[in-house]
Amino acid sequence: MRVMERLDELAALGDRIGYTPAEDAAHELAAGWFREAGLEVEVDGAGNLIGRIPGGGRREVWTGSHLDTVPGAGRFDGTLGVVAGLEAVEQLGTPGLAVVVFRDEERGCAGSRGCSARPDAYVELHIEQGPILLRADAPLGVVTAIVGYVRGRRTFDGTPGHAGTTPMDVREDALVAAAEFVLHAREAARGIEGAVATVGQVSVEPGGTNVIPGRVVLSVDARAPDADRLDRLAHALQVEEPVRTEPSPMSPEIRAALRAEVEALGLPVLELPSGAGHDAGILASAGVPSGMLFVRSLNGGVSHNPAELSSEEDIALALEALAGTLGRLSA
Ligand SMILES: [Zn+2]
Repeated sequence: MRVMERLDELAALGDRIGYTPAEDAAHELAAGWFREAGLEVEVDGAGNLIGRIPGGGRREVWTGSHLDTVPGAGRFDGTLGVVAGLEAVEQLGTPGLAVVVFRDEERGCAGSRGCSARPDAYVELHIEQGPILLRADAPLGVVTAIVGYVRGRRTFDGTPGHAGTTPMDVREDALVAAAEFVLHAREAARGIEGAVATVGQVSVEPGGTNVIPGRVVLSVDARAPDADRLDRLAHALQVEEPVRTEPSPMSPEIRAALRAEVEALGLPVLELPSGAGHDAGILASAGVPSGMLFVRSLNGGVSHNPAELSSEEDIALALEALAGTLGRLSA
């Protein structure tokens, strides 16, 4: 299958951080494939690559993803949406259809944020990067929303003191209070369907092995699929100086088209939120009706890791569902 061969070609370029020569090389490779497919190729001001079926005038429907990677990346994150997206666009050949490669997605979606043109609809095929489809025995999944998040920190103050001479009943140990918060965060997220919360950094002062901790600062990353659930989670966690990004719901029209295509393939129709950010979330926030189709991730759902894997069979199904959906949207 040509999709798998092209994924190999991209993987051979190695890691590709956004706006580096390595990402440029991937864009050049893709631009060559776009021209071979007879697409009109454009590079916009942010460096995004767009390949259009010639002869516009109809509804502009885009598919695509990104070709930059994290350090130590796998072979499917972003690349699959570009390579399979091109395949689908080429198969359909409908004017108004285009495949896009957004720049620098991994470090904050610079390309899709800076994109000067906006399509009438956007559909992104992407690997799930998690274990939900694998556990449900479903090759494909339809994304309901890109989760929103609240990030910030929590500070706990105690009284530093001698670790040997201060009795347990008079201590004010900041790290014990912080540890209780970590457990509270876990329970709060578990109590809200689709929510997650993570403490990823801990700083302990004064940081001596024989000193009772006097101050602890924790990082908090809390995510939920809609504004109501994110409100509840944020209320439970009381993050200091929170930075909040709203959830991006996917378009009901595109979700319905994706569901119909998945069902037509005789597959279970499973809908799920995306816990990771994607270009589709940026476009949806900018008012572009957007949708996402997830392909099952194998190896336990691992991603941002060379062990990232999706099967050729699942990818073939995803390509069919994507082409069908693009066909419906551009008809
Ligand atoms: Zn990605």
